[in-house]
Amino acid sequence: SDMLSLNQIRKTYNAGKPNEVDVLRGVDLTVARGEIVGLIAPSGAGKSTLLHIAGLLDLPDTGTVRINGQDMTGQGDKTRTAMRRAGVGFIYQFHHLLPEFTALDNVILPQLANAVPEREARDRAMNLLEKVGVGKRASHRPSALSGGEQQRVAFCRALANKPGLLLADEPTGNLDPTTSALVFDVLMGIVRDEGLSALIATHNLELAAKMDRVVRLEDGQIVPV
Ligand code: ADP
Ligand code: ADP
Repeated sequence: SDMLSLNQIRKTYNAGKPNEVDVLRGVDLTVARGEIVGLIAPSGAGKSTLLHIAGLLDLPDTGTVRINGQDMTGQGDKTRTAMRRAGVGFIYQFHHLLPEFTALDNVILPQLANAVPEREARDRAMNLLEKVGVGKRASHRPSALSGGEQQRVAFCRALANKPGLLLADEPTGNLDPTTSALVFDVLMGIVRDEGLSALIATHNLELAAKMDRVVRLEDGQIVPV
């Protein structure tokens, strides 16, 4: 089965009020196992809403969300939270690393929260940091790292618990163009290496071209590019 399957997702904000907005009007989207799908959307098109629904942070009004073949529609908060913690990794434009902790600890902590033994969590974290080229920066706090390094650490944190599905919203959007291209290639490399499925939103058509498939969110629906 697909890693992510969204079927006829609808979402309206402020229903029945003068400022009602039909953000998603029947979104159909799948991400196959091992597939990297690019999502292009004009600002305000509902990209964040869509990613939050796909990542079980938000509920659609109607429609079905399946992750790793499991129908999450109608599941309770507990089941949804468990699936999100273990099955989904998030990357945002800003790194959101914990400032008081080292790069290494930022990658270890989500694993401890997931009951991974400390020794194993540390090895996994170090291995990930080395793979993305920041092994030598492991003992630094985020503030001591460059923007590109911070994002690399954020990638490792997102992948720490071996999620099947990665959701990324402009993962290199706050980096200068040269660093962005470089760090994006690092992300693609580790996503492939880990065999992940990914849905990656970007405004950057050059980056989108590196993905397996690109779709566009337009007028509340998915259209091929
Ligand atoms: P994007 O990420 O593509 O910029 P969003 O999903 O953030 O789009 O928002 C899509 C539309 O829905 C926008 O018009 C936004 O103002 C509106 N919107 C988003 N979240 C809410 C909310 N919680 N309440 C009301 N309107 C919202
Ligand atoms: P922005 O709209 O500035 O891009 P983010 O996309 O970083 O903001 O976050 C959007 C919302 O999702 C925030 O309200 C944040 O609290 C929530 N959020 C982000 N990541 C997680 C997560 N892993 N678990 C729960 N909530 C999250």
